[in-house]
Amino acid sequence: MKQRTRPCLVAGLVLFAIASVSSVLAQDAAELNQHKALASVKATLHDGKVLVTFNRDGHYADPKYNPLFQKLRIYRKLIPFTFGNDKWEALRNLTRSDQDVIYEGSIRQDGQQFTYIDDTAAIGNVYAYWAGPVQGAATGSSSVKVRDPQVWWTAERIATEAAALHKDFPDLVDVEVIGKTHEERNLLGITAGRGSKRLALIGALHAGESGPELILHIIRQLLSKHPELFDDVSIVAIACVNQDRRQAQAEGVAPYLRTNPKGIDLNRNYPADWEIPSYLYGGDSSKPGGSTYRGPEAASEPETKAVIAFLEAHRPMVLLSYHHVASVSGRCLWGPQLAAGDEAYVERCRRVYDAFTEGYKSVEGPVENEKDSYLVFKAMPGSLPNYCYRQLDIPGFDVESHWVASLEPSLTDHTTIELLNENRAMHEAAILNLLQLLR
Ligand SMILES: [Zn+2]
Repeated sequence: MKQRTRPCLVAGLVLFAIASVSSVLAQDAAELNQHKALASVKATLHDGKVLVTFNRDGHYADPKYNPLFQKLRIYRKLIPFTFGNDKWEALRNLTRSDQDVIYEGSIRQDGQQFTYIDDTAAIGNVYAYWAGPVQGAATGSSSVKVRDPQVWWTAERIATEAAALHKDFPDLVDVEVIGKTHEERNLLGITAGRGSKRLALIGALHAGESGPELILHIIRQLLSKHPELFDDVSIVAIACVNQDRRQAQAEGVAPYLRTNPKGIDLNRNYPADWEIPSYLYGGDSSKPGGSTYRGPEAASEPETKAVIAFLEAHRPMVLLSYHHVASVSGRCLWGPQLAAGDEAYVERCRRVYDAFTEGYKSVEGPVENEKDSYLVFKAMPGSLPNYCYRQLDIPGFDVESHWVASLEPSLTDHTTIELLNENRAMHEAAILNLLQLLR
């Protein structure tokens, strides 16, 4: 039988606890303002919810400070931030007020780490978070962009979708680890189909752009709807190349990310006219620290090496590398800049462009202010299309936006699942037409 705690003992303990808190606070008020009670506040996104984690600062290791951590506060502030325009500076030196308290009470602790889950954060918003004791200074801020997990897939989701393709089409799909990123994430190569006429689909060389959500969806749709095609043709794909920084975007890093964790633009790192500097977007590809830095030497990056080995092994006939931003892309195809005068190569590119565009437009329908052609030769030295031209002798393109109104929400990272689905349908039709051309 359970023994009842005597009421006078409970009252005594409560009084003792209150007395301890007030004595700690009275004694250490100055100290509390000088040394913050909490350290390492970090807000990250998981499945649409924000996890705010933080630690007890080492200065307060003594158990006499325990009462200080029994009741904590979480502060949250909405930050005006435009993806693609605002940079890290917009997230620095933020200030909070007592109006920003969203929670006060006990917080789950595991060892030295506290974890607070905010499930009231709205998709599309950027928030800054602080944590602190009820009295004394709060620690922070850490900022997070709340992204729709359906629109921005994590590395885990990408691996799950790839594994599901193999499970559902075991005779047609193979998934292999073709390399590791700087942060030791697996790079996955997918082969779908038995045919020797191969189309390569490469995604997210630039982290904040498009790839996995389009490519893996398209492969599944085409295998389901047109299995007979895959006797003659195959799709070989690396759905997400810049896996490390793509993961950072999926976990809520608010600003647009382009380079890999070493600060290298993976679409300038290929051994194809690599030594020629380029100046697109105001960058200088030869300068470390810039957003288009090509790296210390050609193919210096593990991601680049893995892509090259995969392409050498599978020898595709055509390659599409997905760009534009926020998980969607348009139908402008960028061929290699240095191929612009090579009439025979340009003509091969044009046939690919025509098939791709015919398919895409069959779903897109008429568009206002349409240009004659969205085939341009603007892919820079060191880019993957240039590698296709110089080393593989195949038509290779960056898939970019053709700047239509329907894609405008993506420019500010407001791609919805509806927009993504519309975009998927256009790209699926484009790829289907292209496979029929290759066949
Ligand atoms: Zn790009």
